Amino acid sequence: MEKVNYLAFALPAFFIFLFIEYKISKYKKLKRVFRYESSVNNISIGIAERVLSLFITASFYSLFYYIYEHYALLNISNKWYIWVTLVLTTDFIWYWYHRLGHQVNLLWAAHIVHHQSEDFNLTVAARITVFQALIRNVFWCLLPWMGFHPSLVIFILILHGVYSFFTHTQVVGKLGWLEYIFITPSLHRVHHASNEKYLDRNYGDIFVFWDKMFGTFQAEEEKPAYGLTHPIKTYSFLWQHFHYYFEIWEAIKRTNGLKNKLKIIFGSPTLMDQSIRPILEKKWLPQARKTNFTFSLRVYLSTQVVVSFLLMCLITYYFESLNHLEKYFGTSFIIITLIICGGLLEQRRWIYYTEWLRVLIIEGYIFISLGYSSLVIISVILTFITERIFKIDIWYKRFVLNIRL
Ligand SMILES: [Zn+2]
Ligand SMILES: [Zn+2]
Repeated sequence: MEKVNYLAFALPAFFIFLFIEYKISKYKKLKRVFRYESSVNNISIGIAERVLSLFITASFYSLFYYIYEHYALLNISNKWYIWVTLVLTTDFIWYWYHRLGHQVNLLWAAHIVHHQSEDFNLTVAARITVFQALIRNVFWCLLPWMGFHPSLVIFILILHGVYSFFTHTQVVGKLGWLEYIFITPSLHRVHHASNEKYLDRNYGDIFVFWDKMFGTFQAEEEKPAYGLTHPIKTYSFLWQHFHYYFEIWEAIKRTNGLKNKLKIIFGSPTLMDQSIRPILEKKWLPQARKTNFTFSLRVYLSTQVVVSFLLMCLITYYFESLNHLEKYFGTSFIIITLIICGGLLEQRRWIYYTEWLRVLIIEGYIFISLGYSSLVIISVILTFITERIFKIDIWYKRFVLNIRL
């Protein structure tokens, strides 16, 4: 029988909850909950994480079993109270994984992406990267090492993921006595805010008592201003993912001595030289063009996000039975499409060439899967000639990029 991943069915539920949140925010007349560009951007990053995580999740699950079978410290049973202990233990590890994610540059480079959004809604919950998923899984290895059975661990981790999804919303106010026990949407709003009094607060995932215990608790008092203290002001898919790694690299280059260089990698983001980012942005990120989101541009952009999402669901569902060619071509198609979406949001001229790269990926896949690898070069040449003959660049720049040549 074909092995399938039924978690793929949970993915469309994301859009159902998003729709409900959108309707409630309209009904409550809440201002600036959803902006088109920012929602497209958050969802794009989430799609990339979901599809790339497929390549690492199975390896980590096998690693959990390996650690459990060879190095488990305790022989922990499957009794009901063990579940309670495991929920508390995972939450404790989450607290420290999350807190270190904010306090160590190398880890912050991955987690910063989650905090770049200046809007706050359920799409922000999707805004994590495969690098963060990787770091998180390293922390989870502690659980099978302690002696918790991997199947229990995997189940509880899914529960954590579902719980934290619902804390990313503005449509739920304070929840009375629940605020004293759980990390509620109100408390997580504080975590995402850049107001002075809200900085580095509320790291917990399910329970609030770790923050109270370790002195990082803050209730929601004034209206949160969401996003980073120094916003990055770009929708570039790649820059959002990698800018902080570049900043660390630049800071290392500017520092003398191994000890000082290590201090940058493992030091606090608050000590980073704030002049580095604007310099790098000037060098790598030319000024974005003003985007006029016409109806047709929205349709073109949204269609690409929807196609990427559906393809990601399909790859998730059949991941175990797909061959390498299908996995890598499918994933490359999605990533290139998401890079194009970021470029479209800022009307970058280079996306025209990225669009052709995507065409070549599709052609490559068709010919290689049909067993005609030698025809790939011919198809590349024919594509190039077609582009020249029909002057497709003029058409594309006029209708997609609004540039009259
Ligand atoms: Zn955080
Ligand atoms: Zn969050």
